[in-house]
Amino acid sequence: ETHKPSNFLRQIIEHDLANGTYASRKWGGSPGDAAHHAAGQPDPARVRLRFPPEPNGYLHVGHAKSICLNFGLARDYGGVCHLRFDDTNPEKEDTEYVDSIIEAVKWLGFDWAQIGNAPGKDAPYQASDYFDFMYRAAEYLIESGHAYVDEQSAEEMRINRGDFVKPGTDSPFRSRTPAENLARFREMRDGKLEDGAAVLRAKIDMASPNINLRDPAIYRIRRAHHHNTGDKWCIYPMYTFAHPVEDALEQITHSICTLEFEDQRPFYDWLLDRLCEGGLIATPHPHQYEFARLNLTYVLTSKRKLAQLVNEKRVSGWDDPRMPTIVGLRRRGYTAEAIQLFAERIGVSKSDSWIDYSTLEGALRDTLDPIAPRAMAVLDPVKLVLTNWDEVMGAGTLDDCSAPVHPHHPEQGTRHFKIGKEVWIERTDYEETPPKGFFRLFPAHTNASGQAIAASKVRLKYGHVIECVGATKDANGQVTEVQAKLIPDTKSGTPGADSVKVKGVITWVGVNDAVQAEVRLYDRLFTEAHPEANGNDFLENLNANSLSVVTAYVEPSMASIPAGQRFQFERHGYFVTDLVDHGTGKAVLNRVTGMKDSFGK
Ligand code: ATP
Ligand code: MG
Ligand code: MG
Repeated sequence: ETHKPSNFLRQIIEHDLANGTYASRKWGGSPGDAAHHAAGQPDPARVRLRFPPEPNGYLHVGHAKSICLNFGLARDYGGVCHLRFDDTNPEKEDTEYVDSIIEAVKWLGFDWAQIGNAPGKDAPYQASDYFDFMYRAAEYLIESGHAYVDEQSAEEMRINRGDFVKPGTDSPFRSRTPAENLARFREMRDGKLEDGAAVLRAKIDMASPNINLRDPAIYRIRRAHHHNTGDKWCIYPMYTFAHPVEDALEQITHSICTLEFEDQRPFYDWLLDRLCEGGLIATPHPHQYEFARLNLTYVLTSKRKLAQLVNEKRVSGWDDPRMPTIVGLRRRGYTAEAIQLFAERIGVSKSDSWIDYSTLEGALRDTLDPIAPRAMAVLDPVKLVLTNWDEVMGAGTLDDCSAPVHPHHPEQGTRHFKIGKEVWIERTDYEETPPKGFFRLFPAHTNASGQAIAASKVRLKYGHVIECVGATKDANGQVTEVQAKLIPDTKSGTPGADSVKVKGVITWVGVNDAVQAEVRLYDRLFTEAHPEANGNDFLENLNANSLSVVTAYVEPSMASIPAGQRFQFERHGYFVTDLVDHGTGKAVLNRVTGMKDSFGK
């Protein structure tokens, strides 16, 4: 295994392992029954991490960073990582998303049945499984004088919270006795109050400089059907209350989240300290650590905004190859290895920054180059006719050509194709009056300074050397056919191959055996590196030319390949047979990325 550079999270974990921070984890009082079953009997000497998505959309490349980080740390330190659905918000969640998240984590190469969970537990964790315990924890806070039912209107509550300069004002309900609060909270639970008529609030400090500590709401009334618990509850915990409780019940050691939760950390600690005092959870409790979220140029990383692109049909779906979702990246042709390498290269830090999109593409090239089979493809085809073929080779003759599947891996074998009188070449490989430095096909001509220039000689890669004759054009001046002469006895791999020196080599496929393919060429989805910069609506920065579809010709070896296979087309970059549309009677390929970094140039 390669050496992993250290970072602040690795240092914290190494420190805690060396000091046995969690080795002596103990229950403070009478252990809660729910508390035990959430994570089974934990191994106290291990680090225990979690990846806690809310199942309200498809995961994106930012989540991939978090998955690679949490599962990767668990793997590297012999710990475990829980996949946990943070499903405490009933209205936005759906089992479609649950399934897609499971699929995405597995595809990225992490299996929580092996590096996750307690022994014997092979299903992901669900926050909604803890609703009973959360309710008990809320009653405990009430009984111990740390929570109260507030019946101010939402507007009053907002005003009385104060702001950055003005301290908050106590609610008139703040001085209720624990007995009154408990009775009222049970009425909330039993459906005696309307939605929004009351909330349960933690009783902390209305003058705290941290607004998150000014008696945050921890339970609200919401008559909503939940995909896991059905209609059992009409009150639901707030995320800021639920999340620390979930971590504690699962005996997480290091709860790693993005920087925007930094201001929530004091409440996280306040709450878990109270629950430790009450003996509801083990001590020491989990700790929260924040890292900078991934911001990737030309990319949106917000489930809500990605959902908007899907719902408004700006893209073909969550798995559109232009989407930064894991399903989109996968369909585009990204591999799990490339995404893992990308996550490793960008590392983790404590300050927000933008990562250049080329870093992601670079990781793809570096992982695919050593393994991707090579093939030739002509993306913008024009026909080349070898005018002397019949005399030199014999009318109707096809000559065998071969090439390595991979130039550095002879064990991968050889690919075979045939050359005949007609081949497809790239339209851009012919110029009637070539610019300086153009070494591909051009006819004999007189240049701008009146010099006579001889026709070019180029090699058809893996084939023969040819000499350009000229081209036929249509009424609009568009070239419809290029002509050249074959120079006999110059085929690659034969003794005469080097008898004629050439400055240019061009790729081609034979008209006789080429396979026609639909090739989808993708460009960035947004025209701006920061799609929401300058207060712009990101929809205004959509790139109208982010997809172009061409009819290409590819080598015959591509005729029978399954979907999801990746290639390097010589000169053109990395391609994949499309997971959805390939193979149903036609070849459909996506370009993952070009040969070199050209993004944003
Ligand atoms: P979004 O804003 O896209 O909905 P989210 O943070 O609300 O993202 P969650 O489902 O709560 O989505 O995220 C699960 C985990 O993924 C969280 O721990 C979160 O910190 C992490 N995560 C989400 N977006 C990013 C990102 N851009 N970079 C790194 N981690 C991220
Ligand atoms: Mg979230
Ligand atoms: Mg969000």
